[in-house]
Amino acid sequence: MPKLAQRVGRAKPSAIMLIAEKAKQLKASGRDIISFSIGVPNFLPGEHVYAAARESLSHDSGQYGSNRGAEALQDAFLKHVEALGFSGYTRANVSIGIGAKQVLYNLAEALLNDGDEICFAAPYWTTYRDIADIVGARANVMHCGPEQNYKLTPAQLDSSLARKPKVFLFNNPSNPTGMVYTQEEIAALAEVLVKHPDTWIITDDIYNAMVFDGIGYHHFVFARPELADRVIFVDSLSKTYGMPGWRVGLLAGPEAVAQAISTLNSNHITSLPEVITAAAVAALSGPQDVPRQKCAEFAARRDTVFTALRAIPGVVCPRPQGAFYAFPDVSVAFGKSHHNRVINNDIEFCAALLETKGVACVPGSAFGEPRALRISYTCPSAQLTPGLARIAEFFAELE
Ligand code: PLP
Repeated sequence: MPKLAQRVGRAKPSAIMLIAEKAKQLKASGRDIISFSIGVPNFLPGEHVYAAARESLSHDSGQYGSNRGAEALQDAFLKHVEALGFSGYTRANVSIGIGAKQVLYNLAEALLNDGDEICFAAPYWTTYRDIADIVGARANVMHCGPEQNYKLTPAQLDSSLARKPKVFLFNNPSNPTGMVYTQEEIAALAEVLVKHPDTWIITDDIYNAMVFDGIGYHHFVFARPELADRVIFVDSLSKTYGMPGWRVGLLAGPEAVAQAISTLNSNHITSLPEVITAAAVAALSGPQDVPRQKCAEFAARRDTVFTALRAIPGVVCPRPQGAFYAFPDVSVAFGKSHHNRVINNDIEFCAALLETKGVACVPGSAFGEPRALRISYTCPSAQLTPGLARIAEFFAELE
């Protein structure tokens, strides 16, 4: 048989999906499983989004569309980014993808040559590492442990950028930690970025509508507008509007980058379907009460999760302030036994927790932080407190 391309050998199946699959299998075999594993928002978009989709179907052209997104979508996105605080973007600055994931993949193709360096902070969203591997880039990971609230410091960024990486990829609010950078923290990082003009800056800010405690959403470009020349802002409808399966991702950035992404689109996806586009326009420009209400709901859930985790002796959990994740350091359990089974690391911890208590979490090593695990707290609300109680019980049974 002929050989597969080398880049496929570098691609790994998503660690998050593996745990979610295992949980699904156990559930199918009759086990009572509570899943804190997969990062889906677990709500549906407002009725106006479905109405727009139905209306679009009633006069569907059945044709290919624009590689950059239909003009109505470009305009709706431009209004959306303006409302977030960006200015100066026109249609020439935007493009689309099949979810932010594909936008990020396309950006890696567009900006990185084989062997180029991309830097990002750990804990990171697993796909960053995988995309870097597939396109043959070298990942320079900046470790940001629980001791520093999982946040990148200006000094760390400065020393990484001194190596002149081609791309710096930043994620705020963070998956997997739920951390959100304050205005001051963003401004301090922006000061470092202006000193290093050779690096593209990708900001994956798809959780920007889910920020708690009045911190607000901040961006490097708000602090230092001159960075706009090399900043690419990535957004998605998946989390904000409860539309992960609709697969709409967007970017705003320099014209040359938006053009490059549209050219790549013209060679693989071509365009977004008409019905999806109509739904996306309705989500972006219609009433924003669903995202607002969900943000308040997630903030309340964060309180429940944080309180439960903080009550477990030895567990360290920086307080999440956005998205819908908590990322406790559970390394206090390592070296102890649960029902005579020694827990050596995060993977064994998550496997034992799933098998004995029926609670699925993702091991932190999938995100570059093996002391922790990720809890995604968007499960049905009746499962939240029992799931947390089972985790506490698991800890109490450690010897
Ligand atoms: N970026 C981050 C940080 C994410 O957590 C996710 C999805 O989990 C994505 C990007 C991809 O989102 P999309 O559904 O738009 O592809």
